[in-house]
Amino acid sequence: MKYVREFRDGDVGRRLVDRIYKKSRKPVRFMEFCGGHTTSIARYGIRQMLPPTIEMLSGPGCPVCVTAHADLDKAIALSQLPDLIITTFGDMLKVPASHSSLQRVRAEGGDVRVVYSALDALHIAKANPSKSIVFIGIGFETTAPTVAASILQAEQEGISNYYVLSQHKVCPPVIKALLDAKEIRLDGIICPGHVSAVIGSRPYDFIPRNYGIGCVVAGFEPVDVLQCIEMLVKQVENGEPKVEIAYRRGVRPEGNSTALEIMYKVFKIDDAEWRGIGTIPESGLFVRKGYQRYDAERVFDFSVGESLEPKGCICGDILRGVKTPQDCTLFRIVCTPEHPIGPCMVSSEGSCSAYYLYSER
Ligand code: SF4
Repeated sequence: MKYVREFRDGDVGRRLVDRIYKKSRKPVRFMEFCGGHTTSIARYGIRQMLPPTIEMLSGPGCPVCVTAHADLDKAIALSQLPDLIITTFGDMLKVPASHSSLQRVRAEGGDVRVVYSALDALHIAKANPSKSIVFIGIGFETTAPTVAASILQAEQEGISNYYVLSQHKVCPPVIKALLDAKEIRLDGIICPGHVSAVIGSRPYDFIPRNYGIGCVVAGFEPVDVLQCIEMLVKQVENGEPKVEIAYRRGVRPEGNSTALEIMYKVFKIDDAEWRGIGTIPESGLFVRKGYQRYDAERVFDFSVGESLEPKGCICGDILRGVKTPQDCTLFRIVCTPEHPIGPCMVSSEGSCSAYYLYSER
């Protein structure tokens, strides 16, 4: 299997680890901003392979985890409306909102369906003309263009019963927000691979320019991540922070102009609420006025009460990198993938789930 086996090669990995050991002198702290990297680092035991000079932190890169409680409550409120089908990705089902979850709504007879893409939701809309179909749009720049494309297709085909609740987010502003907050000192950033395939590496230019630290766009296989860490170590040791791409087979500096064009045709940037972080300026993607007939938030009349965070859950602190899952008193004892208390345990890309599944390795 080209492009997978090579990037899981143990000998190549060992050579990279050797080089990292030789190069790394200064104590450093790197953060990844992608749930895929969080999983990969835990799954392949990368944290344990590294010299004690390198500390790896996980940031707000899991789309389900960063979705604010109030936004989850909106999905639940919509699911209570008559003749309405909720469609969503599987990970969203189990996430506890303030008073319920989509899984519970489904168990109580609500029509909640898991789909693999927004286009699947569009097919459901075509097959059920007498119902309203709402797709819960979560994710970063990786998924937002496909959801935008589904709205364009709905318009083209005259599908009038398809709606999107857009809770999409964009990545660079949250990196900026965490760096501005100065809660943790970071010496380098592992930039997301799939997001960067869409936006390119140029949107990260502000990181070395304004904050004096380097960043490297990485792929998801263990060799990809180790190569990225080696590049970051080299930048630190040489005192040359810059933006680099280790994931050359997937990312170009300019990104994917077609995907960006589609995304910005349908969505506009505005302030958005992130779990554990609060409102981040210009960090969310919302349906533009020209497409408002597809915007579930504008079309349907619903209200949500006060949001209640799960008691004892420290997902917010974990997403900001100030705590790890082991700091949570509920981890493993009360909160498990079978009985998750917070979103970081629900999502396969969440830190708590990754630590739970792979921390023995
Ligand atoms: Fe929240 Fe569970 Fe993670 Fe604790 S272990 S922070 S309760 S998701």
